[in-house]
Amino acid sequence: MRARFSLSTKRHRVGIVVLEFGYPKRSNSKNDTKRMENLAAEVVVVGGGPVGLTAAIALAGAGIETALVAGKSREGDNRTTALLAGSVTALDTLGVWEQCRVNAAPLRIMRIIDDTSRLIRAPEVRFAASEIGLDAFGHNIENCHLMAALDARARALPTLRVLADDAIMVETNDNRVTVRLQSGAAIAAPLAIGAEGRQSLCRAAASIEAEGSRYPQTALTFNLSHSRQHDDTSTEFHTETGPFTLVPLPGRRSSLVFVTNPAEARQLSSLPDDEMAAEIERRSHSILGKITLEPGRGVFPLAVETARAFAARRVALVGEAAHVIPPIGAQGLNLGLRDAATICELVVAAQRGGSDVGGSDLCERYDRMRRADVTSRTLAVDVLNRSLLSGFLPLQGARGLGLFLMEQIGPLRRAVMREGVVPMASQPSLMRGETL
Ligand SMILES: Cc1cc2nc3c(=O)[nH]c(=O)nc-3n(C[C@H](O)[C@H](O)[C@H](O)COP(=O)(O)OP(=O)(O)OC[C@H]3O[C@@H](n4cnc5c(N)ncnc54)[C@H](O)[C@@H]3O)c2cc1C
Repeated sequence: MRARFSLSTKRHRVGIVVLEFGYPKRSNSKNDTKRMENLAAEVVVVGGGPVGLTAAIALAGAGIETALVAGKSREGDNRTTALLAGSVTALDTLGVWEQCRVNAAPLRIMRIIDDTSRLIRAPEVRFAASEIGLDAFGHNIENCHLMAALDARARALPTLRVLADDAIMVETNDNRVTVRLQSGAAIAAPLAIGAEGRQSLCRAAASIEAEGSRYPQTALTFNLSHSRQHDDTSTEFHTETGPFTLVPLPGRRSSLVFVTNPAEARQLSSLPDDEMAAEIERRSHSILGKITLEPGRGVFPLAVETARAFAARRVALVGEAAHVIPPIGAQGLNLGLRDAATICELVVAAQRGGSDVGGSDLCERYDRMRRADVTSRTLAVDVLNRSLLSGFLPLQGARGLGLFLMEQIGPLRRAVMREGVVPMASQPSLMRGETL
């Protein structure tokens, strides 16, 4: 059986990333292009975002000949990522965290504050990492620093070949996957890992459908400096249009994810910096004092989406190619890193055991291993988000009751915290600090 999928629309991006790694240096000479035309690898990873880079580093670090089709350029990204403890452990195990440490702020306390003006309002809930014996739930880091650390680690691995090119076509058959690049080169491998985000060529080539919906919400992202200390505390204000979440950065700085309806997002986006800063200070009830905006703003329409299968036909999906969830409770990339850790663990075991690294056994196993973790978190985040938007009293009551019980009942609160940081459904070995 043979399936192919190609990309005809041009993606719009800014900023150029030049990656010259363990493989032959890139050059424009005809000879080099010829030499690059037909490449073979044990695994080809498509997409050089944080999840694709992590997968490529994990595989190459374990001695698997890996090709990473990283894309030609990367969009400017002012976001930060709250990496939970398991993700930090995995990045540490892969030799990436050392370079992140200085740019990351610990998250020791998380507060949820009901800032709606509704009839039923929940009490404030405060989670402390020390309650479950941790120094911190995780660390918050700007995506640009995380990506720089991943790039640097990738550059150091001789078994990783990074191609700063776009995949334009992915073909699968019974024995291998072939990824065709814009430069004319092609890479064949027994397995492709699709890490290209929402518009996944790999997913389409494997005929995997994704189901989901858009929310009537847009996330605006800012980085701020402020006059008061954040005390390593992240604060999530729940409002009628979505969460407004302040997350600590090193020093007197924080990131903000401000979720609202698209019309208000458009209006706020046009405010000059000083007016926007005043608006943020007002909405955050001045808990961080005077706010100053740092350069750079992001706008992200929100959606939820899950692939019907996470692997099929020699293609395994990781990160947003497999699932998209709104930025509530810092789950998206943490889930993606667990995808990467899981597929890499399976591939390394298959390769060492002499079995087919892209075979249907491996694909089925990967799908089974990721299903519960992804489904349960997607559902929890979706229900919480919809309960904020809904004017339906019983739904608001249920949300208020849930938060009230968490606030009142210590063992329940601790169980929720542990599950948030160390999910029962998925603990791949990298997240436990074991090398592959
Ligand atoms: C506002 C906001 C805040 C968030 N905060 C958090 C948080 O605090 N914690 C958390 O865990 N998650 C968070 N997330 C979620 C997180 O950002 C995503 O889960 C994460 O970016 C997904 O990474 P990825 O590598 O799967 O995909 P992407 O980041 O989308 O990377 C895909 C890469 O593939 C490349 N690509 C695409 N097509 C091709 C092609 N044809 N050929 C080659 N390359 C290609 C792209 O250029 C890109 O580099 C947040 C999301 C939003 C919107």
